[in-house]
Amino acid sequence: MANANTNYLELQGGYLFSEIARRVAEYKAQNPGAELIRMGIGDVTRPLPPAILSAMHKAVDEMGAENTFRGYAPDRGYDFLIDAIRENDYTARGIDIAPDEIFVSDGAKCDVGNIQEIFDVGARVAVTDPVYPVYVDTNVMAGRSGKFDPQQGRYSQITYLPCNAENGFVPPLPGQKLDMIYLCLPNNPTGTTLTLSQLAPWVEYAKKNGAVLLFDSAYEAYISQSDVPHSIYEVPGAKDVAVEFRSFSKTAGFTGLRAAYTVVPKAVRLLAAGKEVSANELWSRRHATKFNGVSYVTQRAAEAVYSQEGKKQVREIIAYYMENARILTKSLREIGLEVFGGVNAPYIWFKTPTDSWSFFDRLLNERQVVSTPGAGFGKSGEGYIRLTAFSSRENTLRAVERIGKMEL
Ligand code: PLP
Repeated sequence: MANANTNYLELQGGYLFSEIARRVAEYKAQNPGAELIRMGIGDVTRPLPPAILSAMHKAVDEMGAENTFRGYAPDRGYDFLIDAIRENDYTARGIDIAPDEIFVSDGAKCDVGNIQEIFDVGARVAVTDPVYPVYVDTNVMAGRSGKFDPQQGRYSQITYLPCNAENGFVPPLPGQKLDMIYLCLPNNPTGTTLTLSQLAPWVEYAKKNGAVLLFDSAYEAYISQSDVPHSIYEVPGAKDVAVEFRSFSKTAGFTGLRAAYTVVPKAVRLLAAGKEVSANELWSRRHATKFNGVSYVTQRAAEAVYSQEGKKQVREIIAYYMENARILTKSLREIGLEVFGGVNAPYIWFKTPTDSWSFFDRLLNERQVVSTPGAGFGKSGEGYIRLTAFSSRENTLRAVERIGKMEL
């Protein structure tokens, strides 16, 4: 029998959403007539807007004609999409990113999960806590995490940077030397973010300590406050030390279509047997070996996000979700809850009067609202609940009405 990768046996993940599903199924079995409102899952609900649909229809027709048919796409993405990304997401913000520093992919989840491959297995990893579980689990799979300590609720070789109401959700700068630091801003699950001046010390830390910042800005499109950077490269010097991940999923409703991109600047250097190597070259090699491009139709859809019409329509959808966020925040505050997020991100994070699983149960049993208990995102998530603003307006209002009657 072949030996398994025993790192996988160290994984604790899967627990959160399967436990939620178990409790929901149990409730439904006991209350078959109950109508649940699901405010837990981070998936969008609005359909794709017309500008994106018509770009796709056109691309589908091109695929059906001999002279415009396309086979394999370039693995890094078509020039038309890379140019649109550069111009709109970077040049327009005064950031200079070269075309060969952009890698189009089919999702930020894969990219944030795969990036660890270009680092040494002994690299020291830090995550903010609570955390998007992909950062931790992929390092567990790679054998970088050490053992899980159930007492601590943490892996022995991962550094956790707690983010909570007490520190204003600003992660503390590490006191020791680290190699890979995952920052998710705006944050999933807390919905909070950092201003430019709060982000700058991270770039400074990375430069001083030879660390690489892995900056996941999947929720960048939801930023509404002017002092919050849309890209880490707005911080001077960040191009030397940061990789940035972006996604069309939450920006433009692509969760089912699949398109994202990663920026790996050529100035980001890693050490290999005492010599410097370029992170861009390593990622490029990985991408070419393991990825075969995003479909032509999907890349035309992503390009349309940057068209005049596309921008307008996407902004309207984001405004719709952010109005849900406002409604949720207001009514939770009205019943006396302390609420965070929801201003620069589609996530609402609130403090629970009891532990997060007990409050999850109360929301489910008393109000028929499915939420996500913060404890599932890490130890520092205990005592919080996440709600998403991605529901329909109708369901958001129904949820608010139900929760509004709650006595804490
Ligand atoms: N990064 C964060 C922080 C997310 O919350 C998500 C999706 O929920 C992703 C990445 C994944 O995005 P994609 O759909 O592009 O794989």
